[in-house]
Amino acid sequence: MKVCVIGTGYVGLVTGACLAHIGHEVVCVDNNQAKIALLKAGQSPIYEPNLPEILQETIEQGRISFTSDIRQGVQHGEVLFIAVGTPPLADGQSDTRYVEAVAKGIGACLEGGYKVIVNKSTVPIGSGDWVRMLMLEENSALSHEFDVVSNPEFLREGSAVYDTFNPDRIVLGSSSPRAIEIMQKLYHDIIYRHCAYAVSPDPVPVVITDLNSAEMIKYAANAFLATKISFINEIANICDRVGANVKEVARGMGLDSRIGTRFLQAGIGWGGSCFGKDLAALIHTAEDYGYHTELLNACVKVNRQQRLLVIEKLQKNLKILKGKTIGLLGLTFKPDTDDLRDAPALTLIEHLNRLGAKVKAYDPIVSQSGMRDGLSHVIVETDVERLADGCDALVLVTEWAQFQQLDYGKLRSLMHNGVFIDCRNYLDRPIMEQAGFNYTGIGC
Ligand code: NAD
Repeated sequence: MKVCVIGTGYVGLVTGACLAHIGHEVVCVDNNQAKIALLKAGQSPIYEPNLPEILQETIEQGRISFTSDIRQGVQHGEVLFIAVGTPPLADGQSDTRYVEAVAKGIGACLEGGYKVIVNKSTVPIGSGDWVRMLMLEENSALSHEFDVVSNPEFLREGSAVYDTFNPDRIVLGSSSPRAIEIMQKLYHDIIYRHCAYAVSPDPVPVVITDLNSAEMIKYAANAFLATKISFINEIANICDRVGANVKEVARGMGLDSRIGTRFLQAGIGWGGSCFGKDLAALIHTAEDYGYHTELLNACVKVNRQQRLLVIEKLQKNLKILKGKTIGLLGLTFKPDTDDLRDAPALTLIEHLNRLGAKVKAYDPIVSQSGMRDGLSHVIVETDVERLADGCDALVLVTEWAQFQQLDYGKLRSLMHNGVFIDCRNYLDRPIMEQAGFNYTGIGC
């Protein structure tokens, strides 16, 4: 099938590449000329495991191409994905200006028979109808030429390709049976696992529902996952006080099949481009409709406090932070991504700077990539030994696998003080203590 994906970020590019991999003809559109130039040169503008290989293969097979001309993409596709960003505004609501620009852009150049417009961006409830309205404002003669489907995305950065080929479910929201049928055809090989990256033989469940419910499913899922993390962080803070070990508590809880082990790891709290903004948008929508969200507000508040808990732990160990040097292991909000959006490390850097500490950091991707946007108050080191050199404390912020393998005895010998805060409960306490560290976890 002929597909156009507008927006080549973490969601759009991975979606486009994976759809090309299962045999569709995909045109990706982005108004960022630099990204399109990189992609045309066969390079991925983002770090995502397996993506470079899939891009290379599909470019060579001529199944994917890139343009900054929306008209070219719209004319090509019978299915048009909107996958642009929906960042938060200062008051919490979703900034939908990019979706608006794309909807109007599609409306202005839609021609050539029936098309399905797919909202893949996470958009406020009601956006499906709004996109339809915006398109019709551009060209009122179009009403029988298209339908809008909400197809929210659940991929995780760092395993986006795996998740696209192995989704827990595919959600399709629309009032149009014709559009739903086209979407099921589009996803046929993913639903029935006809692709090399599929790991299960069972068909992927497809949830067919109305537009508003599909949009709500995305917000509700993210709100639930964030709440689960805030919940275990609150339990960790009680564990710290009563002498229980939150890792043991989470294990004992998680084995209950009603609870499950995932998203039950205590730590520095959730971050990234989605949870914070999606919770803020859901809270804002609820307020718009006269409902005050007690639980969701508490989830956000617990998360805010959790990020600062690390500062408290550093103060408890080092007393005055002014004039001290703190080294951060990891900057990205999670491992296997280059994404720094709403990363807890950025909150730490801000507060440590305010308290007069010198902050250094090493991150496997950020250190090598040369990307420094938003990192003006931290010295980004190119290796872990330079990071440890002269530090009073090391703080493990992101659980990159390579941090399990470091020579911590060597790192300790390079430091002034041996304070180690493990914000992800990722390392082994006895090993760290043997290496000479004064090791502190979160709730254990
Ligand atoms: P992103 O910021 O990485 O990418 C958005 C892309 O859209 C950028 O390349 C930008 O240049 C492009 N763009 C903006 N305006 C455009 C326009 N008018 N025409 C063409 N291109 C335009 O965003 P993302 O992380 O891929 O997220 C996209 C959407 O998917 C968001 O709504 C997000 O909430 C949702 N989502 C993201 C994730 C994730 O893990 N990143 C997961 C699920 C859902």
